[in-house]
Amino acid sequence: MRVVILGSGGAFPTTWRMLPSTVLLRKGEMFIFDCGEGTQLQLSKSHLGWARLRAIFITHLHGDHVIGLAGLLMTMSMGSRERPLRIYGPPGIADYVRLTQKYLKFGVAYPLEVEEIEGGVVVDEEEYFIDAIPVKHRVFTLAYRLVERPRPGRFNLEMAQKMSIPPGPLYKHLQSGKEIVLDDGRVVKPDEVLGEPRPGRKVVYMVDTRPFPAAVEFARRADLLIHDGMFDDEMEEEGKMRGHSTTRQAARIAKEAEVDRLILVHISPRYLSIKEMLRQAREVFPNTRIARDLDVYEVPLKQCTSGR
Ligand SMILES: [Zn+2]
Ligand SMILES: [Zn+2]
Repeated sequence: MRVVILGSGGAFPTTWRMLPSTVLLRKGEMFIFDCGEGTQLQLSKSHLGWARLRAIFITHLHGDHVIGLAGLLMTMSMGSRERPLRIYGPPGIADYVRLTQKYLKFGVAYPLEVEEIEGGVVVDEEEYFIDAIPVKHRVFTLAYRLVERPRPGRFNLEMAQKMSIPPGPLYKHLQSGKEIVLDDGRVVKPDEVLGEPRPGRKVVYMVDTRPFPAAVEFARRADLLIHDGMFDDEMEEEGKMRGHSTTRQAARIAKEAEVDRLILVHISPRYLSIKEMLRQAREVFPNTRIARDLDVYEVPLKQCTSGR
């Protein structure tokens, strides 16, 4: 999996930070989380295009997270997109899309569905799922995560040969977790030839929120936690009032949740230098980065449970 931060800022865009939008790529599928103003431009700068785009997930209906939506929808239509697109977001998102289309008088040439959600599993696939929980902001806001289900363990070829299992489709059956019956009537269970199941990966996108206890469980052992890092220590009170986190608070969530890496986004335009706020976060959780626009983060496959 690969994560591309299209916009690392919050509130209003600056020449150094665009508004929230993050791309997640997984096996030829692309998902976008939030669609701030300028998202389509950032997409174009990142050379990602939108052919693989399957769904857009909106956290909440604050302008800095949704104003880019109309432009992106229009451009994709002009660009002869045919693949269906789904938008998930909080209650109100369907009206927002419908009324923008109505007043700007634009239709789209591809099937577009908008689904209003309040949490729970929204995409459910064999290899992974995407779910959401409400967070603590000033308006109803969701956090999302993509969670891969564990993969079957590595195939032990030597063992298979020792057990005289003929190579070919039977290997495939075992590899996919199904038991087989050999010609001589012997039954072979997958765990006889497979190593330990290999854990899946987890990427969490949680912006525009104060820290809250359920965030820790939601982010538990994530490979990558992308979190609101709007303010530094000095602005903690302001953050509380405005429903945002300081970098240190985000780092505490990362630490408690035992994530691998913390990527801070939604950085306030007031900060020209991020040195101090980064230091504050790293004091708590060393493996922290403050994202810059168009940063790319790889999320490699995990090989075994102990190697997370
Ligand atoms: Zn925001
Ligand atoms: Zn907001």
